[in-house]
Amino acid sequence: ENNHPLRRTQAEVDLDLLSKNIRTLWNRSGCEGYLLLLKANAYGHGSIACAKMAEELGVTFGGVAAYQEVRFLRSAGVRLPLLLLEDLFDDEIAPAFDADVSFSVSSLAYAEKVARVAEKAGKVGKVHLNVDTGMGRLGCFPDELMKVAGYVHHSRWLALEGLFSHFPSSDEGDLSVPTAQIELFSRLDRELEAAGIRPKWRHFANSGAVIDFPAASSFDMIRPGVSSFGIYPSKEVTHDVGLFRVLSLKSAILSIRTFPKGAKIGYGSTFVTERESRIAVVPIGYGDGYVRAFSNNSDVLVHGRRVPVVGRISMDMITVDLTDLPESVATGDEAVLVGEQAWEDRSGEIDAEDLAARIGTISYEVTCLLTARVPRVFF
Ligand code: PLP
Repeated sequence: ENNHPLRRTQAEVDLDLLSKNIRTLWNRSGCEGYLLLLKANAYGHGSIACAKMAEELGVTFGGVAAYQEVRFLRSAGVRLPLLLLEDLFDDEIAPAFDADVSFSVSSLAYAEKVARVAEKAGKVGKVHLNVDTGMGRLGCFPDELMKVAGYVHHSRWLALEGLFSHFPSSDEGDLSVPTAQIELFSRLDRELEAAGIRPKWRHFANSGAVIDFPAASSFDMIRPGVSSFGIYPSKEVTHDVGLFRVLSLKSAILSIRTFPKGAKIGYGSTFVTERESRIAVVPIGYGDGYVRAFSNNSDVLVHGRRVPVVGRISMDMITVDLTDLPESVATGDEAVLVGEQAWEDRSGEIDAEDLAARIGTISYEVTCLLTARVPRVFF
């Protein structure tokens, strides 16, 4: 989490573009609050720097999944209000109080536990009720909500701060499921209101919802994760809202050797040259999160052109075929794995969505999987 380029292989994270994306999505929603997802090291982007930028921008909450993430951020001096999006294990509740977080509560039993710890600590626990309107993961069932909400509302050790739910398929183009979820959520909210229970922050919208149906889904606050980082949640979302890629993954050419026709390249000899070939080594591998599924199955930008990854991805190295590039390519020249590269009159681009499609996964995994060995360099 500093700006020392410890290694030629690094992830450049443009915080200015992150703040641009946040403003774009926030304006699009027209709502008061914005929760920036900081879990999983801010989807691989470096959660401390992203959180500090979010503080400056006036973002309402940071969203985390685990107590360990709360500790990590707080020990780095992050003061942004944090919402834990999951229930905690019993022994994590007391330390979470010390770190000043808002708790998600999915059941009466958990609400009671948080209240007991609050009483012991002499503190009031801030609570966001999680109601399951169709996600089928955490969250209380709709017919349990009133009971849990009533308990939180009446407990002197708990303060009801929010009510939220989650979409399982807001990025699939078909709005029938999310629309029914929103109707259910709105009805539950009206029932709470009729009982005098009025949480300040009602929130529902993830990236797919903010991109495709912001007016219906925004309520008081949005929670766009992947789109904040300039990545679309899927190819099925139907709006282009003008986002900028925040993270670029770059390295450089470490060696170039010319092999004769018939040479075997890398572990398992899965690539055999069909002609005399110039094969370069780039120092990145699955130890950095550039996963082995990219073996013989991705491209890298060199001199503004896509060149194929050939052979297996090793832990620390990949091999790429430069044979079709001009002889002028030299060791030390930049290799771009994710992002844009302009070189003289040529330019190319590789995005997380492209890479995800190659290996049958989602864009989220491509950045989340980048390991701690990859220095994040912030602009
Ligand atoms: N809200 C919750 C509860 C989540 O778990 C997530 C991410 O998984 C998000 C919001 C953000 O989702 P997305 O990155 O698709 O915007």
